[in-house]
Amino acid sequence: MYFWQFRVYQRPLLHPLQTHHGLWEIREGIIIRLEAEDGRIGWGEIAPLPEFGSETLSAAILFCQSLENPLSINSIFSIPEQFPACQFAFESALEDLSIENQLRELEPKNYSYLLPTGTAVFPCLDDILAANQTNTYKWKIAVNSLKQELNLFEKLIDRLPREIKLRLDANGGLSIADSKIWLKIADECQIIEFIEQPLPPSQWLEMLQLSQDFTTGIALDESVANLRQIEECYQRGWRGIFVIKPAITGSIQGLRNLWKKYPLDLVFSSVLETNIGRKSALRLAQEYPKKERALGFGVQQWFNDSDPDWLEKLWTTSANN
Ligand code: MG
Repeated sequence: MYFWQFRVYQRPLLHPLQTHHGLWEIREGIIIRLEAEDGRIGWGEIAPLPEFGSETLSAAILFCQSLENPLSINSIFSIPEQFPACQFAFESALEDLSIENQLRELEPKNYSYLLPTGTAVFPCLDDILAANQTNTYKWKIAVNSLKQELNLFEKLIDRLPREIKLRLDANGGLSIADSKIWLKIADECQIIEFIEQPLPPSQWLEMLQLSQDFTTGIALDESVANLRQIEECYQRGWRGIFVIKPAITGSIQGLRNLWKKYPLDLVFSSVLETNIGRKSALRLAQEYPKKERALGFGVQQWFNDSDPDWLEKLWTTSANN
């Protein structure tokens, strides 16, 4: 049995992140503290992303309030699948009890760096390129009109060194016609690693068709937000890339089982979680046997992480449970 507590946190982004889903200004989530009978402590994080189909923060809070205390292993592995961020958090905390408690950051070259959206990328681009030792960058599209974005894109790739790989993330915001234009350009310019979720999840068959008509890869993201969707897309014939956000995918054990069962081409990615969720997600990414693709964890520039005591402060200044 495990005694446990939770705290809700709010963490402002240094600059709002603009995507097709809107402007993101504050990351909110829940930190879980699990205590074993022998006194060991394990941490986990619920970092929901409801626009990707996970539970909302308020649903996660209600769920936490309804959970028993102390908690059995059995109840951790029985968290219903409509709470994928909670499944991840409690399994993370459980694993954290028995695994060495260190966040293992990788070399920067292993991360894909998330660039500011639209024209905001230009004033800081030289500094970013000078400071970063990665060759993989990601840029959000489907935020402005196609004409504007093609214009910006041309300027952007003019300033990027040749060896760079760029990921374009539409967050499901393109039309079929615009997707074809982007894919054609991507095939020609040879700098695009893949285009992420060009169409909304409802247009899955159209994306399957696009993936067969162009050379540039397509990565599903919003379409494969949880374990069930990953398995369904694979079984229905998707052989392209899967962007996996462990913090909202659901059961950690379930994710391991999936990549053992199917030859999935996975790109592990962040949901702008704190170091607690990041630690578990990176641990999983390092366990995954194929490591050719950069991890979508080059996002630390979006937060001020200078306070090493944030967790202690969160625990002493609020009492949610
Ligand atoms: Mg994405």
